Parts: sequence; C-alpha cells; structure tokens
Amino acid sequence: MCDSDRLNSVFLDYGASKVDNFWDADVFILNTCSVRMQSEQKAFSYLGRIEEFKRQNSNMKIVVMGCMAERLGYSIKKRFKSVDLVIGTKDIDSSVSKIIDLCYLKKPFKKMNFNVNFRSEIVKHITIMKGCNNYCSYCVVPFVRGIEKSFNSSTIIKKCSLVVKNGVREIIFFGQNVNSYKYGNVDFSLLLRNVASIKDLERIRFMTNHPKDLSDNLINVISESSKICSHIHLPMQSASNKILQAMDRKYTYEYYLNLIEKLRFAVPNISITTDIIVGFPGETDKDFEYTLNAVKNIRFSGLYVFKYSPRPNTKAFKMIDNVSKTEKKKRHTIILKESNKISAEIVLKMLGNKYQVLIEKIDGGFMEAKTKSGHKIFLKINKKYYGKILNVVIKEVKGNSLFGDVID
Ligand code: SAH
Ligand code: SF4
Repeated sequence: MCDSDRLNSVFLDYGASKVDNFWDADVFILNTCSVRMQSEQKAFSYLGRIEEFKRQNSNMKIVVMGCMAERLGYSIKKRFKSVDLVIGTKDIDSSVSKIIDLCYLKKPFKKMNFNVNFRSEIVKHITIMKGCNNYCSYCVVPFVRGIEKSFNSSTIIKKCSLVVKNGVREIIFFGQNVNSYKYGNVDFSLLLRNVASIKDLERIRFMTNHPKDLSDNLINVISESSKICSHIHLPMQSASNKILQAMDRKYTYEYYLNLIEKLRFAVPNISITTDIIVGFPGETDKDFEYTLNAVKNIRFSGLYVFKYSPRPNTKAFKMIDNVSKTEKKKRHTIILKESNKISAEIVLKMLGNKYQVLIEKIDGGFMEAKTKSGHKIFLKINKKYYGKILNVVIKEVKGNSLFGDVID
C-alpha cells in the first residue's frame, strides 16, 4: 500500500494521472503481495483479465511490481506474455525510470525523493525501515523484502518537518517491525520523541510492532507524548505457546499478555489491534481454544485473522499442513465472529461521548475524522474543518460505523 502511494505521488509529478477504467490507461501497474497464496492467486486472476483486455482493446503497457514480482521474477512474463515489465521490491528505486522509459513520458528523469509528496495532504505515510530478519517460520517477507534496514534518522526527521510545513498534520510511520528501528544510537522511542517535537505536527501513528521488541521506553513515550496516538497494532498470531514456538515468534503468550497489561496501565483506553493465524501446522482444537479465549479476554478493538497458507522457502513449508481447509475456515469464522462482536461492543460504548478528532478526508458525501484510538467518525461536510483538530460528539452508531457532530 505504501509503495503504491509512493509511486502514485511520483507519477503525479510527471503529469500522469490515475484513471478509473482500463480504457483510459496507458500503463497498468499491478502492485502485488506474496504473504498468502490467496493474494498471489488474486494477482494472477487479475493479470489474466487485464491481458485479455489488452489483447482486444489497446496498446496499454502492463507492469507487475511488488513481492510477487520479486519472488517469481521473469517466470511471470513467461506465463503472461503481454506483461511488459516485472520489477522486484529490490529494484523499486529504479522502477520509476524504467516505467517512464516504457511509456515514453517526456520529463527527464531526476532522482525523486520517494517519501515526500508536496500536495496538500493531511495524513502522510513515511517508511522508516524495510525488510525483516525475524524469519517467523510461516512468513515469506524476509525472502521477498530482504534483510532489515533502518533509514537514516536525521533524513526521516527532515522529511517529517518538510511534509508538516506543506500541510501534513499526521504522520504514520511504516515498517515490517517499526519498533525494531535502530539507526546508530537512535532507537524507535527516541525517533518518536524527536518527531513529536516538530511544531504544527499534531499526531503520530506507527505500524506494525513485533511484541519481542516492545520496550518499556516505547510504552513511556506513548504515554507521555500527547501527539502519539493511543493505538497499537501488536500481532499476537496465536495464544498457544506450542504454536508460538513452532512459529518462531520468540515470545510466550504470558509475555504478550504482560505487554498488554503494561500498555493498558500506562495508556488508559489504548486501542489494541492484532493479527492472528489459524490452522498453523499442528494447531489442535485445544491450541485454537487458547487463541479464542485470548481474543475474548484481551478484547482487541479489531483484528485481522488469516488462514495459514504454506509459503515456499519458509521453514513451515516443510511442516505437514495438517489442519484441513474446512477446519481452517471454521476457526477463521469463529475468531472473526467473536472479534466483530467485541469491536461492536467497544464502538457502542463510544455513543454519546466526546472525542478529539482530526478531519482527514472528504469522501462520499461525508467528512471522515479519526479519533486518537483510530476509530473513524463520519461527519457532515464543512470544508473549513478540513485538516483541523476538533471536538466531536458521537450521535449514532450503525454496525461498526460511527456518526458524529462537531462541537464548536
Ligand atoms: N511484520 C508484521 C506482519 C507482516 S505480514 C508482523 O510480524 O507483525 C502480516 C500478517 O500476515 C502477519 O502478521 C500474519 O498474521 C499474516 N501472515 C504472514 N504469513 C502468513 C502465512 N504464511 N499464512 C497466513 N498468514 C500469514
Ligand atoms: Fe514476517 Fe515475522 Fe518478519 Fe513479521 S516479523 S514480517 S511475520 S518474518
């Protein structure tokens, strides 16, 4: 998602624009993910359709980028003959010049600063590190994104100051494990402290966090700085110690629970979200029950649940994928149902309360605002509020959607 944003902003600078349908496109860029087999299958089916469209209708160029491009390389071109270019994640910096050459765009290529966009945006994603060294046994990321590398801290701070000068009010730091960030003697909590001191920056968010690297220092910074939002995405994956060990996650459930308690003590009302994998090799009914109970006890504000998907090269690929498809589906549904119930209860409790929000977007007849906890609130459109921090009261809850009014 972040790579797509970066590409989008660079192409806009070249005078290119996004189009809503294939007919108008000169180039079709498919940015792909390899984390689960399903994402790759989706990309293939998309490519099949787009190839068919190109055959019948146009001279459109097709470019495939991202993790799947890195993993499968030119074999994609062999299978889909009309793909013009395959660009892996390691070549992302040169990707723009390659695509521009392909499309004969006129403006001479100069090295662009990928992470900075000068248009009036309110929320800006900034990638602070890439890659991952953790090699969780199920995960393909270290193979397609390479080893962990933290970017220069002073460059990051300069970028942040620059985007804030250009109107950005919230910065979201991105990385596979942002809290493992380390550049010289600047760790993630120090980076946050420094960025929080930028005048006119209102909010900072970050994702995603590895539990093993969540330090007390980081918890302190979140609790002390009013600019750091009270939301943390902390993937648990499973609550069975046997499964956590087989996943090579490097923590136990007790350790994870202790982190949750520390976070909730230091930052009351912190919103905690997570990732869960069901059906990992060897996951018994009992192991699954541990995870379900953890979901019930911890009461996450929201979660992503994934059915285990064997990925080539990973350690778990050699394990027997012994939880049946039906059982995975069943466990997936149970977690999702429980989590939706809890999220709805949390949201319902917000009814009638006041929150400070940032007005981030005007879209589809509503203004979209976000609370510090990360909850989206829909408001009536009033353009003068765009980009402002305001107080709102929640007037209505429909499913998981919140509607409110501005309190002047
Ligand atoms: N670096 C992050 C997440 C990266 S991938 C972290 O460690 O938290 C995002 C999520 O996809 C993971 O948290 C995991 O829940 C899920 N995932 C990764 N590989 C998977 C696989 N092989 N099968 C199913 N889910 C997977
Ligand atoms: Fe994958 Fe684990 Fe790295 Fe996250 S920490 S990207 S799950 S290997």
